Amino acid sequence: MKTNIWTVDNNVDKSDSYPQVKNAAVLLQKNEVVAFPTETVYGLGANAKSDEAVKKVFLAKGRPSDNPLIVHIASKEQLCEIVAGVPEMAKTLMNKFWPGPLTIILEKRQGVLSEIVTAGLNTVGVRMPDHPVALSLIAECGLPIAAPSANTSGKPSPTSAKHVESDLAGKIAGIVDGGPTGVGVESTVIDCTAAIPVILRPGGITKEELEETIGTVILDSSLKDATAAPKAPGMKYTHYAPKAPLELVKGDVEFLQNIADRKQSEGLKVGIIAAAEHIEYYRADYILSPGKLADLRTVAQGLYDTLRKFDELDADIILSEVFPEQGIGQAVMNRLYKAAGHHVISQNDK
Ligand code: AMP
Ligand code: MG
Repeated sequence: MKTNIWTVDNNVDKSDSYPQVKNAAVLLQKNEVVAFPTETVYGLGANAKSDEAVKKVFLAKGRPSDNPLIVHIASKEQLCEIVAGVPEMAKTLMNKFWPGPLTIILEKRQGVLSEIVTAGLNTVGVRMPDHPVALSLIAECGLPIAAPSANTSGKPSPTSAKHVESDLAGKIAGIVDGGPTGVGVESTVIDCTAAIPVILRPGGITKEELEETIGTVILDSSLKDATAAPKAPGMKYTHYAPKAPLELVKGDVEFLQNIADRKQSEGLKVGIIAAAEHIEYYRADYILSPGKLADLRTVAQGLYDTLRKFDELDADIILSEVFPEQGIGQAVMNRLYKAAGHHVISQNDK
């Protein structure tokens, strides 16, 4: 299949008349799948009402069928069409964080969406993305758009159109290239169907921000204990993994360097992922940094690109520093733990 690529320059093109977006919207209406930028990562969009369209998303990504998709909307009217009701707490969250990187799980309206989108659940995850191209595309086609991240299942999510191309060219109808994404990690997923809301996946909106708005929120048990069964169906699968094995190293710079030296002496090519502030202290075959410790938002922004860059290098093993699990750091570490298959080497264990 030929994959159309349309480039949109947000700074030059006018959001109410993106001609490229019109072409993409027509394909979505024809139940084809199209990748588009959001403020978090690139999404792979499909008409959420059509089994035919949604099946193509699962096929292109190689995504397991029990992992539901988030439905993206551009207006509150679209929300009423797909959910059975909106609790007060969810309304408060929407008023504060939409458009933005927060996915809210609500009871779905029966018979509207493809059952494949929700993997047969009675609930649906909904979000309104904070990106002019995404909003204009969804409004233009007039459909709720089911969109997981636009990567091959298991690989790091795409934060640029190039990432999407390298995974999905030839497998999807089109890619709208709106430049690199801003947040860099996916939306926070919060379940608002219970009395006390539960974070199923940490992401672009932090636990601290949520609690400032609606009081206590609970972290799903799987996020506190790696061995517990995850509630968000998709969280049990391997995710974000580079080709080379990744190990997280909890310790100081010297501790990580010693491990790198030992691996090199065994004949292995070693890659290191480190905060920008620490790069100069390391020696290894490859040293990459996603961003600065002093501003964890830059680490979130650069994380997936860093993981993907290692796929172009021939490192045999990647050692990564850990980052503070505060604010957006909680999402960063959630992704790093998964990328590493929870392999951690800790200085305190020695
Ligand atoms: P992705 O599409 O890769 O951004 O992943 C979407 C995440 O949202 C996955 O972890 C899904 O399991 C989760 N999710 C989507 N819909 C629901 C739902 N109805 N209930 C619980 N989790 C959901
Ligand atoms: Mg994903």
